Amino acid sequence: MRRVLNMSRLSPVQFLVCAGLLLGTTIAVRSAFVDEYKSGILWAEPKVVAPGPIGGPPSDAIVLFDGKSLAKWENGERWEIKDGYAVSRETGITTKDAFGDCQLHVEWAAPAEVSGEGQGRGNSGIYLMGRYELQVLDSYENKTYFDGQAASVYKQHPPLVNACRKPGEWQAYDVIFTAPRFDSTGKVLKPASITVLQNGVLVQNHFELLGGTFYERPPAYEPHGPTGPIHLQFHGNPVRFRNIWIRAIPELESKRP
Ligand code: MG
Repeated sequence: MRRVLNMSRLSPVQFLVCAGLLLGTTIAVRSAFVDEYKSGILWAEPKVVAPGPIGGPPSDAIVLFDGKSLAKWENGERWEIKDGYAVSRETGITTKDAFGDCQLHVEWAAPAEVSGEGQGRGNSGIYLMGRYELQVLDSYENKTYFDGQAASVYKQHPPLVNACRKPGEWQAYDVIFTAPRFDSTGKVLKPASITVLQNGVLVQNHFELLGGTFYERPPAYEPHGPTGPIHLQFHGNPVRFRNIWIRAIPELESKRP
């Protein structure tokens, strides 16, 4: 008498073995008759980057501040360095090198001793290309205008959420910035864009900037070259910084058929 495989009568182990065999056979038959899709693009192999410790710097990063020296910054000698961090005072500092599209990591801490309020409390700022300010402010239980609080693109876009730690605690910004593109007449071909994680929390999601960030006038683009310096603002408050590194965003090479 002919016996037909009845899966419902199998033990769980027998069922799993049979199901596995059926699946394997199906995949084998399928791959024998179906062509694999290939784009035809010849991609260069992505370079190997050692990611380094949590918080970086990865092996291809340029370390802008390692806790010991601000030699890569104009006016760096005017900030105090101690215990592996730098304290803002007297003036802003500006990198001697210029950068375009980049990934930037900055750790900062507002003063532990709270004084002032609103924009007067733990104010500093990170200027991409010397023009586009990502706000640094003690926004922990400290109200100000929303497009001027910590992790805002100053006067253009508030952070998606307030992910601030308490004053005195170290915080991290991880920034992905794409520089604007201009044509030969200075017209904007593509605006700058910025994505920011604050303490691992997404606070800016590919926001397209409206131009330079100003206090006294609306944002506007002024044509500039493909690179510019990183500037850290001094706004009257002793904000601390440490572990600052930057990576140029690599271009993937490819050949198309
Ligand atoms: Mg500021």
